[in-house]
Amino acid sequence: MRYSYAITIEKAPAVIRRCAHCGVKKPFLPSDQIRINAQKKLLDVWLIHRCMDCGQTWNMEVFARISPKQLDRALYDRLLSNDPELIRSLAFDPQLHAKNGTPLCQATLAYRIDGERLSLDSLKESAELLLACPVPLGVRLSRLIREILGLSAGQFEAMTASGRISSPDAADLTRARMETRCLVRVDPAPQSPPDYGW
Ligand SMILES: [Zn+2]
Repeated sequence: MRYSYAITIEKAPAVIRRCAHCGVKKPFLPSDQIRINAQKKLLDVWLIHRCMDCGQTWNMEVFARISPKQLDRALYDRLLSNDPELIRSLAFDPQLHAKNGTPLCQATLAYRIDGERLSLDSLKESAELLLACPVPLGVRLSRLIREILGLSAGQFEAMTASGRISSPDAADLTRARMETRCLVRVDPAPQSPPDYGW
């Protein structure tokens, strides 16, 4: 039996950087706005971030000195219209953050998992859990699976070690992180051998 789980982002991860107003390092959250500057037919594109404490803005570079011709027309339109889905994917883009020297800070990330919570005790046959997220979530798969199955860290580790929880998408489920999609297989407890009264 297959169960589907949709992960919805409620709050994006922040970046930690020095806030010019606060004078110390602070988390900055992506805003819902993209800023585009055109100069001599070249574009600079930034995603505006705000300090969580004082609201000071910081512009994260998305494209620098790029010709509009290099940009796909659909992408250009999405940038111009502050497309929320595009902004969300930029806010989760590890390469973009690495380029800006601002690694993602998971502490502010908030998400919701929609889908049936399963109880392993009542599992009679193998179950396939299909987890899907519109952006590369970056959260450990163990955390998501434990929430769905209501398992402690110790229970989860024992079940992955015995092979009752496995995934074709992740060799090591205790360490792997959620990208946009992951299939997880859960097997019911092995049946105890029949008691013949010997
Ligand atoms: Zn600040």
